[in-house]
Amino acid sequence: MSLDAFERYPLLFGPSPVHPLDRLSAHLGGARVWAKREDCNSPLAFGGNKTRKLEYLLPDALARGADTLVSIGGVQSNHTRQVAAAAARAGLKAVLVQESWVDWPDPVNDKVGNILLSRIMGADVRLVRAGFGIGFKESWQRALEEVRAAGGTPYAIPAGASDHRLGGLGFAGWAHEVRRQERELGVFFDTVVVCSVTGSTQAGMVAGFADADRADDPGRPRRVLGVDASAKVDETRAQVAKIARGTAELIGLGRELRDEEITVLEGWAGELYGVPVASTLDAIRLTGSLEGVILDPVYEGKSMAALIDLVRDGEIPRDGNVLYAHLGGQPALNAYSGAFG
Ligand code: PLP
Repeated sequence: MSLDAFERYPLLFGPSPVHPLDRLSAHLGGARVWAKREDCNSPLAFGGNKTRKLEYLLPDALARGADTLVSIGGVQSNHTRQVAAAAARAGLKAVLVQESWVDWPDPVNDKVGNILLSRIMGADVRLVRAGFGIGFKESWQRALEEVRAAGGTPYAIPAGASDHRLGGLGFAGWAHEVRRQERELGVFFDTVVVCSVTGSTQAGMVAGFADADRADDPGRPRRVLGVDASAKVDETRAQVAKIARGTAELIGLGRELRDEEITVLEGWAGELYGVPVASTLDAIRLTGSLEGVILDPVYEGKSMAALIDLVRDGEIPRDGNVLYAHLGGQPALNAYSGAFG
């Protein structure tokens, strides 16, 4: 089965914009840096990477007769906010388990940003005390049972829409979209930098580029560099590898992905998921002040910190084009004002 054979429920504007970050590139002294903007990919609640993944999960939910999407994340989860938006668009209910994954002192952490938007969209938001983890959680199973007990038909969406049969398809499609945009722009992105936590964004890209580059040989090698933001790099790596291989099989790649095609780098997450470190805040300030592009302190600030170091160290070649996947996440900034005071 090829990617085109999977049904999509349209939630995006269309292809997300790609543009150069020339002042940042000049500041770093090499490698032309470009961004592809999943933070403005959709008319729904500020969009983001999960909106792209949910395009492939929604038809499955509707085909199964679901009336309620049930998902899980941290209190400031971007993912659950996008599930709330997708549910609203499709006329479904949403039950969102919001666990206290991040020990962050901001007094309005559970009132502003993503969680505020989910409440506005009518989701049933449930705050639960529990630590960070991307696996299947007891609180989520309980929420699913409660929907069933009340006579509803739940559709289970794991953290980040990742550990799900269809979770990698959205970003496999992204890779094909990049190939089309490369042809339009006359560039080749030899390096792609992407933040990884629950894994299916990078995993989809890896499977998707293997497919797209094979179908339409770009003639040069391409690297997808994942940057761990969970501070549990071994788990992230294992999850990316598992989902990438599952997605490759699902879209009929016809070969096993090699280990060297799956790269997840550590060194920019700090000690804890959700807590920015000095390099995160520096990267956010630099990108904001040079480009007017806003990054968040949980994910994108960490992957941009990695990109900056990799360009400066020459690890990303100076004559290359690097594509920064901006995956969204800015609503969480409202809970991080103290970091910039
Ligand atoms: N960037 C943002 C803004 C996110 O919300 C997420 C979600 O976890 C990620 C990056 C990481 O993506 P993934 O969970 O698919 O690895």
